[in-house]
Amino acid sequence: MSRPIVATIHQNALRHNLQRVRQMAPESKVWAVVKANGYGHGLRIATEALSLADGFALLNIEDAIQLREEGCRKPILLLEGVFSPDDYMQCAVYQFTPVIHSALQLAWLADSFLPRQIPVYLKLNTGMNRLGFAPENVDSVLGHLRTLRHVKDITLMTHFANADVDRGADSALALFDVLTGESHLPRSLANSAAIFAVPQSHGDWVRPGIMLYGASPFADRSAASLDLKPAMTLASEIIATQYLMPGDSVGYGSTFVADRPTRIGVVACGYADGYPRHAPTGTPVIVDGQRVPLLGRVSMDMLAVHLGSAPDAGIGSSVELWGKQLPIDEVASVAGTIAYELLCALAPRVPVIVD
Ligand SMILES: *Cc1c(COP(=O)(O)O)cnc(C)c1O
Repeated sequence: MSRPIVATIHQNALRHNLQRVRQMAPESKVWAVVKANGYGHGLRIATEALSLADGFALLNIEDAIQLREEGCRKPILLLEGVFSPDDYMQCAVYQFTPVIHSALQLAWLADSFLPRQIPVYLKLNTGMNRLGFAPENVDSVLGHLRTLRHVKDITLMTHFANADVDRGADSALALFDVLTGESHLPRSLANSAAIFAVPQSHGDWVRPGIMLYGASPFADRSAASLDLKPAMTLASEIIATQYLMPGDSVGYGSTFVADRPTRIGVVACGYADGYPRHAPTGTPVIVDGQRVPLLGRVSMDMLAVHLGSAPDAGIGSSVELWGKQLPIDEVASVAGTIAYELLCALAPRVPVIVD
């Protein structure tokens, strides 16, 4: 039998969460964001479950080509645009929608000879200061783009730096409105946080990522309170138990030392599976349906848990690291990170099954 760790992807949860996007943004079309291997859920598994989305947004043109070759006919948005001028030919052949965020990408497009027109997204920088054209250049860039014969539809987009905090998107939204108000072009602004918190930003196309996967875009609101369902359960089993006497420790660095007789379980899951090494003693883990605390340092292939409140647990007992019984946001927060990072970090060595 193989090592017992497995990630189960709940396609019904993905479908439910897409429905939540529709409820929150009923007037908008939906780009399902499936970058980073569908936030760790698997590109094919995610796009299959999210087949009712209006399009898919991702980064790598290779992934986009794979989707087309598997029969996907929906719009595909390349969120960082192209990385070399030749990629525009692929965009034309496969009908991808590249983002244009820089003068260099625009120059490559202007110099391209394309057999078919392509739709494009023009990205404006409204304060994130990663990608996009500066406010003072928007008019001239748009003017230039409109003269290109191989461009067929232009959508204006921006990305918020702070849509997850109260009023955090106000200034970016106001700037975007000023910059785009006269153009009468379609607009796309909202990530998951803005879908919930900034309804005025929904525009023509929303771009949900994390909410589709059932985690919360907010530090202070649970996924359950937003009616989102976890799309991934990471589960394993106990493969050994130990009985620690006072003064005994467990794991590298002996960071946990028992102060009383303590029964512990050793779980087949470590940081090489994608579990965060920074998860401290006390991080919740589910054993046989009971919440128990992690003990000591997470190692590459194993971690230890306290079995005090699961006295019947032993070798073979079921363990959930996150998922249906334990919100990933909780694990992430205790480990000093966010659910996005944990989901994307699921290691290739973990088998993935679909239910
Ligand atoms: C990743 C990404 C999204 C999705 O963000 P979430 O916070 O996961 O909803 C939306 N837009 C752009 C441009 C992105 O890069």
